[in-house]
Amino acid sequence: MLRRMWPALILTICGLWMTYPAAAQRARTAKRASKARAVSDEPVGLTPAMRIVIGHIKADALRGHVSFLASDLLEGRDTPSRGLDIAAEYIASQFRRYGLEPAGDHEYFQNVAVRPDDPDSAKSRNVVGLLRGSDPVLKDEFVILSSHYDHVGVEKEPKDGTKDLIFNGANDDASGTASVLEVAYALSSLHPRPRRSVIFVLFCCEEKGLRGSRWYAEHPVVPLLKTIAHLNLEQLGRTDATEGAKLATLNLTGFDFSTLTQTLVGAGRLTDVKVLKDETGSDAYFNRSDNGPLARTGIPAHTASVAYGFPDYHAVGDEWQKLDYDNMAKVDHAIGVAVLRLANAAAPPKWNEAYAPAAQYVEAYKKLHSK
Ligand SMILES: [Zn+2]
Repeated sequence: MLRRMWPALILTICGLWMTYPAAAQRARTAKRASKARAVSDEPVGLTPAMRIVIGHIKADALRGHVSFLASDLLEGRDTPSRGLDIAAEYIASQFRRYGLEPAGDHEYFQNVAVRPDDPDSAKSRNVVGLLRGSDPVLKDEFVILSSHYDHVGVEKEPKDGTKDLIFNGANDDASGTASVLEVAYALSSLHPRPRRSVIFVLFCCEEKGLRGSRWYAEHPVVPLLKTIAHLNLEQLGRTDATEGAKLATLNLTGFDFSTLTQTLVGAGRLTDVKVLKDETGSDAYFNRSDNGPLARTGIPAHTASVAYGFPDYHAVGDEWQKLDYDNMAKVDHAIGVAVLRLANAAAPPKWNEAYAPAAQYVEAYKKLHSK
């Protein structure tokens, strides 16, 4: 019996000897790949947490939010107006539903003086909710996700015989507001929560010279020094852009300005969304939305959009029925995964020192961190 086993034993030893170099090579390759991943922080596939985030962001929920915020009843959400106040109450009610911590100066509301030169002028409100991070150290660092919930109100005089006088602002920017709400819902569903804390801000007064975000930058609810990134959302619903259909794509302003771009590009790769540089809009629009005031404090801050130009831009025809909610859910999957990655990343994003147009932000970052 023993004698009959010898040939099998010899074959096994030879087999092991022959497979050893291949196995060793595989181990070396895997080690190199994991080292490269550690450097680029690039996930190779969807994690269970990412799948939960994606599963919680739904087209019907987005449609529900936008159809209310952009309804005629809210009269175009001018600053200040009763319609804007109703929108703020709606947003706060959703934050309560998700269990976010109130982070304004009065519950979820941060009062904003509408006229910058007069702190006693009429007040409007930013709406601010906080999802506390789960890591004992990193929970004291913050990622901001934002959009603006105001728009431009109603037309005083009918033009061209039109009876519709209400600028509903469905794409600009009820779409961004609904997306912030859905990402907040998705991230608050995670157990454990993301490692860093996430602040969800719906700014007022964007259409009045970015007053809401400028106020926040001057009166931050958490230290700017501890705020590692800011992603702002604009115009995510319309895919019928003036230059052609925009499906499963996102533009990011200041595409080459910071490494935050790579986080969104990677999240897009995992969710089948292409994150692109719009050659004419990328740098030109960098300071045209609510990321601008935060970027000027030194925080890597960008705005993501589906399209910059669309047929009803700042017109009464920007109605909720014209948005593509399936596509909106898809791009929000990429945004949700990107925010999760920022909140969990080993290192914060950095401004690109090699790109000359980003120089003033590199300087602002150094100034902020030298204090
Ligand atoms: Zn806007």
